[in-house]
Amino acid sequence: MLTAFLNLLLPPICPACAEHTENRGFCRKCHDGIRFIASPLCACCGVPFVSQQSSGHFCARCIKEKMPFLKARSIGAYEGVLLEAIHMFKYSGKTSLAKPLGKLMADGFSNKGCDLVVPVPLHKTRLKERGFNQSLFLARELAAIHNLPVDYIHLKRIRATDPQINLKEKERVKNVRGAFAAADGKVFIDKHILLIDDVYTTGATIRECGRILKRAGAKGIDVLTLARVVNL
Ligand SMILES: [Zn+2]
Ligand SMILES: [Zn+2]
Repeated sequence: MLTAFLNLLLPPICPACAEHTENRGFCRKCHDGIRFIASPLCACCGVPFVSQQSSGHFCARCIKEKMPFLKARSIGAYEGVLLEAIHMFKYSGKTSLAKPLGKLMADGFSNKGCDLVVPVPLHKTRLKERGFNQSLFLARELAAIHNLPVDYIHLKRIRATDPQINLKEKERVKNVRGAFAAADGKVFIDKHILLIDDVYTTGATIRECGRILKRAGAKGIDVLTLARVVNL
């Protein structure tokens, strides 16, 4: 009833193309333009595999290197409609996109024991520039839908870092080393945390946050990002 009334009052439009839609999310065409990431993928870091391999398989990197998280998953490839929507959201301050983008994440997430949602934090200088933390906005939407608490206070970015965008993986790792800290308090002890970020590129930021959360007592960490850089 209420939805029908709202739709009459404010006809829903697609946040990506501004066409009218049936619901309050992306229109069918834009939704179909998202390349959703599905198996086969690495059981740990979630990198998509080219060939069909059995599930439960680790990629070469995850066999060699112990990741601080149990599993990392992403909703879609960082390209096309999704890339444009993230850019509008993050760099053009179109914060109304938090709702449909957060819902997209929530729809692609099935909770297996996570009890606390933690967004990757921004440094206060970046926060001042942008005015909001995109990962927190996404985390809030997802957490509301899955009925989970969010903590955006105790994982802190203590050092401003260069934008990762033009850096190679080794430089990215170095760039974020020591950039995060867990503020005192015991909030992370024995928690199974869902760490949220907008884009997974090399995973350097995610791994660094994961290490800090583990050191702060988290018993497990899962990662969910809205998009992922996919080289397939
Ligand atoms: Zn659309
Ligand atoms: Zn992997």
